[in-house]
Amino acid sequence: MNDWIIKSSIPVECDVLNESLQFPSRNIYCVGRNYRDHAIEMGGDPQREKPFFFQKTSDILIKNGSELLYPKDTSDLQYEVELVVAISKDAFKVGLHEAKNKVFGYAVGVDITKRDLQKISKNSGEPWFSAKVFYGSAMISDIVPKEDSYHPDDIKISLEVNGKRKQFTGCNKMIWNVFELISILSQTIPLKAGDLIFTGTPSGVGQLQKGDIIEAKLIQNNSTSLSFVVE
Ligand code: MN
Repeated sequence: MNDWIIKSSIPVECDVLNESLQFPSRNIYCVGRNYRDHAIEMGGDPQREKPFFFQKTSDILIKNGSELLYPKDTSDLQYEVELVVAISKDAFKVGLHEAKNKVFGYAVGVDITKRDLQKISKNSGEPWFSAKVFYGSAMISDIVPKEDSYHPDDIKISLEVNGKRKQFTGCNKMIWNVFELISILSQTIPLKAGDLIFTGTPSGVGQLQKGDIIEAKLIQNNSTSLSFVVE
C-alpha cells in the first residue's frame, strides 16, 4: 500500500443495470465523426480517415434524471447521442482480439456541445476544450454488462427531444467499431479500468432549449435509457 499525502477523491459512480455495485468512472474519451451521415452534416469528408479523439473528465458527468443547467456562455447548446463503452481492465497497446476482453459493458450517453464555441475554436485552430468540457457536458445511462448485452453491432441507439425522435442509428454504422477504437486509443494511451469511451454520434444533432426533455435509449433485449431536463 502507498501512503498518500492527501486523501484522493472517490471516482464518480455510474449505475449498472440490475446490479447494486457501481462502476467507478475515470477518463472519458470521445471520438469525433464516427458515422458517415454525421461527418457529412458537419461538413466533413466521410472517408475512413484515421479517427480522432478528445477527452472529458468524468467529473463533468451528470446522472440519469438530472437537470442540465443551460450554460451562460453559449447560445447553441447541442445534443449528440452516442454508444458508450465501459472499460473493465487496463489496456495498453492491445490488438483487436485483446480489446474484446477489456470491455465491461455498454451504455447510452449524450455528449453535450457548445456548438458556437466549437465553431470559433475550429476557425481559430484552438482546442475544442471550452466547447466540450464543462459541468453537465456528458451523461450516461445504467451500464449493461457485456454478458447481458448484444454484440455492439446489434445495438441501436436513439434520442428524443420532447417525445420527437431526432437521432436513431444501428451501431453497426460506425466507421470505426468499438474494438478498433479501443485498440487504436490504446496504442498511445494506457486505457485504465473505469475509463469510458463515447463512440461518436450519428446524424440529427441539434439544439437544446430551456425546458426541453431529452430521452436517450440503448435499444436491445436488456434496454436502458437516460432522461434529463434542460433548465
Ligand atoms: Mn460526440
